[in-house]
Amino acid sequence: MIIHLKETVSAELAAQLAEQAQAQYFIREGQAVLITSSSVKEVPSFLQEYAADHFVMASDIQLASRTYQSATREVTINQAKVGGSTNHTLMITGPCSIESWEQIVTCADMLKELGITTLRAGCFKPRTSPYSFQGLGMEGLKMLAQIREEYGFNIITEVRDATHVEAVIEYADIVQIGAKAMYDHGILRTCGEARKPVLLKRHFGATLQELVQAAEFVLSGGNEQVMLCERGIRTFETKTRFTLDLCGVSYLKEHINLPIILDTSHAMGYAYGVPDLTRACVAMGVDGLLIESHPNPKVAKSDAAQQLNLDEFRDLYRSVQSVAEVVGRKVV
Ligand code: PEP
Ligand code: MN
Repeated sequence: MIIHLKETVSAELAAQLAEQAQAQYFIREGQAVLITSSSVKEVPSFLQEYAADHFVMASDIQLASRTYQSATREVTINQAKVGGSTNHTLMITGPCSIESWEQIVTCADMLKELGITTLRAGCFKPRTSPYSFQGLGMEGLKMLAQIREEYGFNIITEVRDATHVEAVIEYADIVQIGAKAMYDHGILRTCGEARKPVLLKRHFGATLQELVQAAEFVLSGGNEQVMLCERGIRTFETKTRFTLDLCGVSYLKEHINLPIILDTSHAMGYAYGVPDLTRACVAMGVDGLLIESHPNPKVAKSDAAQQLNLDEFRDLYRSVQSVAEVVGRKVV
């Protein structure tokens, strides 16, 4: 159950009441919001005099549910807006990993040429092998911050553990929680305390319920700037890296009030399929796209097979705008 307390209830009292109700809570514009387990169906008697409003919820998908808030939430990334009443499909692109200054400048120049303003590159890479390239870490993050300064882009980069969140908040604009980190409660709770937009990727073995409940950890901490990212789930199929769950995207669009970003690169795993798959996603009317692009994918230090080279990305970018128009959207 979600309970909005009266605005006259102080933050101190709200904290006491939340503890007594075994609830999560946060303050939204001066009003405390308590979230108990969804198994609670009536406002506890000790809370009744303080409650302004309450919402009985069917499952622990609560703050993210359209039953609670029917409109898609608007996420603000500096001057850019995603979700809400905008018809924007945010294009997020860049290399899987930042590898050098020269590499990232080449990518940044392409974004500038195309008028794209959101650059993504990983610094703390969550690799499946300890012997693979692990990312440039802080050195890479500082290079991204310099790019942000010089080009005015919004920067998105991932955190591999909770200790990275503070630095990413300082140097970047969107915190990416990678698929493998989706179950990391340290990261989720730290991001809940942050006041920066978060892109939460679905673990390849997670149900939609688990994905949205992971988002609830962030939302219930008071960080309401959360975007979900479908990036492929593991099925019996091995010819593609993962299987992009477009049925799941339909479910999320219908029931969940968070903007949805589609990552076709990690789902497909091979560059040849990324343009077609991306156009299919745009036709679904999604809030954003995440596509890996690299000046020379053949020598990329991570995810080499799936990254588009810059000419391939340019071709794709030119083709998505007309698809977006058909469904009343604009790729930005
Ligand atoms: C990435 O975005 O480069 C990445 C590692 O993706 P995922 O967390 O979806 O595997
Ligand atoms: Mn990658």
